[in-house]
Amino acid sequence: MRHLPIFLELSGRAAVVVGGGVVAARRAEVLIKAGASVTTFATALSEDFRELLEAPSFRHEARDPEPKDFEGAALCFVATEDLRLAADARAAAKSAGALVNVADRPRLCDFIMPSIVDRSPLVIAISTGGASPILGRMLKARLETLIPAAYGRLARLTGGFRLAVAKAIPSPIVRRRFWEAVLEGPIGERALSGDDRAADAELARAIERAAAERAEAPRGEVYLVGAGPGDPDLLTFRALRLMQKADVVLYDRLTDEGVMNLVRREAERIYVGKQPDDHELPQGEISALLVKLARQGKRVLRLKGGDPFMFGRGGEEIEALAADGIAFQVCPGVTAATGAAAYAGIPLTHRDHAQSCVFVTGHGKDGKIALDWGALLQPRQTVAIYMGLRNLEALTREFIAHGADADLPAAVVDNATRATQRVVVGALGTVAAKVRAAELSGPAIIIIGTVVTLRDKLDWRLQAELRSPAEGDLSPAASEKDRER
Ligand code: SAH
Repeated sequence: MRHLPIFLELSGRAAVVVGGGVVAARRAEVLIKAGASVTTFATALSEDFRELLEAPSFRHEARDPEPKDFEGAALCFVATEDLRLAADARAAAKSAGALVNVADRPRLCDFIMPSIVDRSPLVIAISTGGASPILGRMLKARLETLIPAAYGRLARLTGGFRLAVAKAIPSPIVRRRFWEAVLEGPIGERALSGDDRAADAELARAIERAAAERAEAPRGEVYLVGAGPGDPDLLTFRALRLMQKADVVLYDRLTDEGVMNLVRREAERIYVGKQPDDHELPQGEISALLVKLARQGKRVLRLKGGDPFMFGRGGEEIEALAADGIAFQVCPGVTAATGAAAYAGIPLTHRDHAQSCVFVTGHGKDGKIALDWGALLQPRQTVAIYMGLRNLEALTREFIAHGADADLPAAVVDNATRATQRVVVGALGTVAAKVRAAELSGPAIIIIGTVVTLRDKLDWRLQAELRSPAEGDLSPAASEKDRER
């Protein structure tokens, strides 16, 4: 280890920055964040200082520093291209007893600046000892994506209760278990989801209980998580985190295998799957199962295709939980229509085509399609139909019967966002026959509206394929479309 990593208490202490460019600005910025009073010496300040000028602990002197300017300074950053000025400032700062950092001159530094991942109060500092700042920045970028922005909330939560917990639970081992349970359990999740007040209140209660009875049976919880339309890359960080914590997962036919692979390996898997005809496990039974498992103290993951509140009956499933007082949380997902739109190059709204988009279900009750045709047949509107593949023939017929133009463009995106995605493009009058010929398997989204014509320009998967035909047939839709031409 070439340097000693430490975190310096700077609140209220003086620090000096010499230089007026972007590096100097960044240094002044972190110093202010850390609570220091910063004086910057520079004959001119770059634009990068603009926001700092407002900070009460920032002062600008439009001149070179003099030796007495460094008196009382804890730290000094020198970031100027004027070598003479840099050498003078460094010498003066050192003789005033400050620790000095000269930008890009590691040999002249008392300390080096790490790359910082800031989840205050959680802070990660990365150093390569000056050997490879670029590697440090790359690692920083990876950590930034790995560590949810909300992790700082966990640190804040813990910090606020450390003394209380130490008092309530004297045994270090029991205390550690307690903290693990807090951070990995419902209270930590509560904090991560942004509900600081509830997290504080629950933690205070947990501490009281722990003090009274020492040991605490775990409490179960249900995570209702949107798994997106298929491509695992479309999961949210939060979904992934909850998937990694689950003791048991309830999934169905729409849950992609690639997504299931990301669920914690040890988690028990329960299929509550449905096929359109032989019906799913009745909603009531799924809800009862969720309640039962949570009561056993388990972390229950209910994975739903797309977004749980979009034709997902997620609302119904959690009603039962709420009624039984089971803790639960809902994590949104990319819904099939937006996934399909992006992966098929069909924007759902567009200035020249559609100012609104409606999402409807084409699943008819008892074979009848009950849709509000007046609302659907608005001009300059896109209609996205879920669960409509089986009824496509009847749906398109009804559209036309209610006054829609048979030439109105329509597309069906089958297995959207998956490697097996297929897109059939046509018009209201033709698309059903084309889909039948293509023998689409579903699940599929139907998109109706002139935005469909933008696909030629905007399907990036198709474009990529045209550029590099050797990469394999990513989008069978390409051949589909070629046939149409
Ligand atoms: N909650 C889900 C929708 C559930 S309803 C969501 O937000 O996406 C089931 C319907 O969603 C299917 O009939 C189909 O219309 C659509 N769907 C789900 N996954 C899909 C996919 N990968 N491609 C196309 N449509 C999909």
